[in-house]
Amino acid sequence: MENSKYKVTIGLEVHAELKTSSKMFCDCVNNPDEEKPNTNVCPVCMAHPGTLPVLNKKAIENVIKVGLAIGGNIANFTEWDRKNYFYPDIPKGYQISQYKYPIVSGGEIGGVKITRIHLEEDTANNKHTDEASLIDFNRAGVPLMELVTEPVIHSAEDAGNFGRELQLLLRTLGVSDANMEKGEMRVELNLSVSDTEKFGTKVEVKNINSFRAVEKAAKFEIERHIALLEEGRGNEIVQETRGWDENKEVTFSQRSKENSEDYRYFPEPDLPKMHLHEVFDLEKMQADLPELPWQKRERYLSLGLKPEDVEIYISDFEIGGFFEGVISQITDKELVKKASNYITSDMSGLRATKEDFKLPEVSSFISLIKMVGENKINSRGAKDILAILCESGGDPEEIAKEKGLLQESNTEAIKELVQKIIDANPKVVADYKAGNENLLKFLMGQVMKESKGSANPQVATEILVELLK
Ligand code: ADP
Ligand code: ZN
Ligand code: MG
Repeated sequence: MENSKYKVTIGLEVHAELKTSSKMFCDCVNNPDEEKPNTNVCPVCMAHPGTLPVLNKKAIENVIKVGLAIGGNIANFTEWDRKNYFYPDIPKGYQISQYKYPIVSGGEIGGVKITRIHLEEDTANNKHTDEASLIDFNRAGVPLMELVTEPVIHSAEDAGNFGRELQLLLRTLGVSDANMEKGEMRVELNLSVSDTEKFGTKVEVKNINSFRAVEKAAKFEIERHIALLEEGRGNEIVQETRGWDENKEVTFSQRSKENSEDYRYFPEPDLPKMHLHEVFDLEKMQADLPELPWQKRERYLSLGLKPEDVEIYISDFEIGGFFEGVISQITDKELVKKASNYITSDMSGLRATKEDFKLPEVSSFISLIKMVGENKINSRGAKDILAILCESGGDPEEIAKEKGLLQESNTEAIKELVQKIIDANPKVVADYKAGNENLLKFLMGQVMKESKGSANPQVATEILVELLK
């Protein structure tokens, strides 16, 4: 139903819990995996009267890192604001956030312009049972970064992909685990559809907990809007907040959208104004950034790797680190490609299925790949040796000898073998010479059989053709 008559506009608001040792304004442990409710709490994050917040410098540093990585502008002056609303998960009756002066403005990720990134505190968790509504304050006050994009995304897929790229960035920078399923990263979808020059009416969709769900929710909304517009019921599209129902795969109306005036923002009097350029050495921070996902992608693609393999290396740090070790020791492009094939297919397969899997020594793995490259072993033998390397390690050359996997490349020995086959099959040889070239396959089969699979097929074929002349 996505129709060229209609222009889809999407902007995303993404929250990510930052990976710091303590919370944003107190020294409680920041542990998203804490299972016992109300363990990491103190009078500050429980909002007892008379308590005062203290800034977490690491959290601010993390947001600055993201800003530097995306080419954003790092504000010099910034301050904190109170966002007032009444809800059980917000014990103070307001959330400390940033309104007028976000830490980062501008920047870009994968062609999507970023409006701003600011820092705030996460809320508590509500749990509703049949008997009661319970509140767990472990999450209350955890540093939460909010990133807002410009309305410049135009398809459901691009929205999902933006989320994936941002997640990669946060993980690469080590500032957030950004797990959507765990709620460490939360995406809100703003979407409108229009058949005129102007933007259509925007809806916001919440409760999305995977990138697939971002795409599904966007597709659902696009179709809903287009159907209403087609039927001349465009006035039924209202500015509102909708929820995503994961089971039914539909969105549903939650509430009409509040305006920023409703929050009665005002500067937080209990925290100091910040002059970031005086506190942080931005040049050094920029220089110390790790290689970013898009830079790594570029470098790997230029090695001639398959795009799907590249995505594995930039998102799976263990396998990516292993591959990085491999290419620090081999430069031959063909060999690198061969190594990559074995890593992303056979080795990843073993890793996913074998309980006692361990990464092999990079040097043994390289020896193995070189043996394949030199035709000393065939691909079947290579798989067997790799399985051993990933279980107990060892020297591939030794293992190949021990298991009888070495291929015979000794020309004299193979010549003898080939001659034997030729002598034993005079009729076939005559037919081949008379023009039935298919018989070469049969003869090769005989040679391989005679050698019990140990002859290097390439070498054997060359010799066979030669001797049949
Ligand atoms: P609000 O005041 O409703 O929160 P904002 O202007 O702060 O709206 O924008 C929130 C998000 O909505 C941003 O990601 C922005 O890009 C996106 N957005 C704004 N206008 C539209 C629109 N017409 N269609 C789709 N997304 C939009
Ligand atoms: Zn606390
Ligand atoms: Mg807004």
